[in-house]
Amino acid sequence: ELANRMAEKGADLVKALFKMGNPVTVNQTIDQDTAELLVTEFGHNILRVSDSDVEIDTASDVDAPETLQARAPVVTIMGHVDHGKTSLLDALRGTDVVSGESGGITQHIGAYQVKTKGGEIITFLDTPGHEAFSEMRARGANITDIVILVVAADDGLMPQTIEAINHTKAAGVPMIVAINKVDKDSANPQRVRERLLEHEVVVEGMGGDVQDVEVSALKKIGLDDLIEKILLQAELLELTANPDRAAEGTVIEAKLDKGRGPVATVLVGRGTLRVGDTFVVGAESGKVRAMVNDKGQNIKEAGPSSPVEVLGLSGVPGAGDQMSVVENEARAREVAAYRAEQATKKRTTAAPTNFESMFSALSDKIIEYAVVVKGDVQGSVEAIVTALNRISTDEIKVRVLHSGVGAITESDVTLAAASRAPLIGFNVRPNAKARALAERDKVSLRYYDVIYDLLEEVKAEMAGQLAPER
Ligand code: GDP
Repeated sequence: ELANRMAEKGADLVKALFKMGNPVTVNQTIDQDTAELLVTEFGHNILRVSDSDVEIDTASDVDAPETLQARAPVVTIMGHVDHGKTSLLDALRGTDVVSGESGGITQHIGAYQVKTKGGEIITFLDTPGHEAFSEMRARGANITDIVILVVAADDGLMPQTIEAINHTKAAGVPMIVAINKVDKDSANPQRVRERLLEHEVVVEGMGGDVQDVEVSALKKIGLDDLIEKILLQAELLELTANPDRAAEGTVIEAKLDKGRGPVATVLVGRGTLRVGDTFVVGAESGKVRAMVNDKGQNIKEAGPSSPVEVLGLSGVPGAGDQMSVVENEARAREVAAYRAEQATKKRTTAAPTNFESMFSALSDKIIEYAVVVKGDVQGSVEAIVTALNRISTDEIKVRVLHSGVGAITESDVTLAAASRAPLIGFNVRPNAKARALAERDKVSLRYYDVIYDLLEEVKAEMAGQLAPER
């Protein structure tokens, strides 16, 4: 790469390095000082490229208000296992007025769009569950606009229902409660509404502002009502994006397809993605060879909130990776190579747990300290949560994102990772999968068996956060 940029032969650089007492191969990475020395040695000028020169800065690239147009809401379905998430996804898909006309064959690409009777479009993410949701969020991909919480009317609130509520709240995404299986004799929707109060989810009928709707995914009852409520919620959110710019999107699924090579489903965030566009996605680059929508149709372009399968990638990216269309292939390769390098660096230098990152500013004055608490018995979990809430000060507010009894699970870890919160285990430990996940996502796990110790440590951290600049 360096030889290329200097228009020199790679072998000559290797030779020069060898003479400098630095035997390397042609595709080995050298450090910055050595590179600078080498460049001077060859009589070239050094042009330092900073991270910000290479990386695509999407955050500060804000679209002008007049370029914004309304876009479809992106919806994720969550809830306890067997409460009907998959059935509801299928039932909602069946309400699409386009599928009937087009005769296209349903393709599972990770998301689908429904055109309502009124002509509005809604995008549904096909992977239900709060773990996938928070994993994406941990990767900086906040693509869900609205969460549908499915609660079976016969079963009521279950552990994963409560997890889903807490994951949704931590993300600050509005929720619509779908009380499912109302066709059953044993259904008790009112009981669901009452139990939701205990978790500070107050539905409209109970004087709150969370919309709820009774449905049966099986008997297809209440689906129009649910769609209406999604559209109402979307209207309140005033969702917009600029469709007339270079496209940006998020990978929601990716795989290596035997016949077609690497394939990624991308949810376009803004701009319009077109066949022939050159892009970088995660540490991969490529050129859009073809695009396929959720109805199996080849399409030429895809605008904001559309999920499309993209062909023409150099490799398989990860879910949550960002895609950006760039001006040319050289630029795409440069950014991709830079990201690959950064990823290797990250893997080799394990970042120490950064306490500052666990605090986030609520406003100019108030800082929030978010935490997830798991314990062995209900009594101690309650005592810890109460005590933690009590040590909030005017400046720092402790916020327990989720608490529960039992071992630390993957759900707990994804939630903590997405909110960069520490995870406290009181007389409990993570299971193997959760432990591996915590290690990968660098979630701070703290174990205690004395409540006093736990509180003292949290207090000390809070005090440290308030101390003058260190
Ligand atoms: P998931 O685990 O949340 O995705 O739940 P599924 O969609 O797989 O549904 C679990 C079970 O509940 C299946 O046997 C469904 O047929 C059944 N089910 C889903 N929705 C309804 C409903 O509205 N009424 C009834 N009676 N059964 C339902």
